[in-house]
Parts: sequence; C-alpha cells; structure tokens
Amino acid sequence: MGQSPKSLSSVCVFCGASNEADPALLDAAAQLGRDLAAASLKLIYGGGGVGLMGACALAAHKAGGDVLGIIPHFLKVREKRLDVVETIVVDSMHERKIQLFDRSDAFVVLPGGIGTLEEIVELLSWRRLDLHAKPVVFYNVDGFWEPLFALFQHTVDAKLTPPEFMQSWASVRTVAEILPALYAALPVPESDAELGDKA
Ligand code: AMP
Repeated sequence: MGQSPKSLSSVCVFCGASNEADPALLDAAAQLGRDLAAASLKLIYGGGGVGLMGACALAAHKAGGDVLGIIPHFLKVREKRLDVVETIVVDSMHERKIQLFDRSDAFVVLPGGIGTLEEIVELLSWRRLDLHAKPVVFYNVDGFWEPLFALFQHTVDAKLTPPEFMQSWASVRTVAEILPALYAALPVPESDAELGDKA
C-alpha cells in the first residue's frame, strides 16, 4: 500500500468554484473551514477566492486556522487568488493536483462541478492502484453524490472495477460528521491491530 498517514495534520478540500451555488452549500463550506481551524488541521486547497473553496478558506483563515492554497498562474485572476492566505503559484493543473495530494493527509469532497469531479476521480483511481490509503470523505448533502456512486457501482456490476473499490471512501450527510469520518478512516496502527488480534 502507498502513502498512508498515521494521524492527521493537513486536510485537502475539493469543492466547487462557482459563486452561483446554493447559499446553503457556501455556508456548509465555511462551517467546514471553521471546523478545520478548531481542530488545528491545516486546510490545503485550490487557492481561489471564489465559490465553496473561497468560502471554506476565508472562514478557516478568519477562525485562526492554517491555510495553504495552490493555484496555477493562469487561474490567479479567474479564480480570484486569496491574498490573505499562504499561496503557492504553480505552472499547471497537473502540478496543482500533485501538490494538493502530496501535502495532504486526507481529503474532503464537497459538492462541485467538472473540476471537482476530475480531481476526485483521479484521487480515487490512485487509491484503486494502491498508490495511497489516505482517507476520503464525501459531503453527500441531500444525496448530491449519489449519481457518482451509482456510476461507480455500475462499473463494479459490469466487473470492470473490483467490489472493494466501493469501500475506498466514506460518505456523510452533515458537516459535523466530516472530521469524525476522516479520523475513523485512518488506518489502524499496527501495534493496535496486534492488540486487537490478541484480545
Ligand atoms: P469546479 O468543480 O468545476 O467548480 O472546479 C473546482 C476546482 O477544480 C477549480 O479550482 C478548478 O480550477 C479545479 N480544476 C478543474 N479542473 C482541474 C484539473 N484538471 N486539475 C486540477 N484542478 C482542476
């Protein structure tokens, strides 16, 4: 198994960059930002000031949290790079994704569009290839992600994806459940696993 954190210090949030999103989703993103700050977890994110990602990052920053944005040059204006938080400017989308991945112990997926889909499908495909075992939690508010889960299941039913793949992530319905789900998904330390075997 590839990279697998023993504890959490940084959490990447993948989410939509649209300001047109339901205000309830923007509020949820902000609440997650505050929760990360309260838990002393560093937020790693796409570096923009728009949509759910801007709401999450600004709220985390205002609550005293540590925030790191990673944004490509060509999106600095379009995605309104946040000047108040630490930001790394990279050359390409690929570099953004690899840095988001390498710097994060776990991932939260809030509702988003095609960009969010692209990011999480890659993340889960790397999990499928055993390149990592970092926790992934979807905020599946009002069943937002059910169509994606159904598509994954469709590929399992067609015997194109192994059934275990469906255990690669956790799905929760409320913001309050996100951080507990991340901690619950951490791999059990070997010493504890051995104790469990003997009990
Ligand atoms: P969206 O879900 O479409 O609102 O996009 C959410 C975020 O994903 C935005 O910051 C996009 O710039 C980013 N994004 C879109 N496509 C990619 C990609 N191929 N690699 C990295 N980030 C991406």
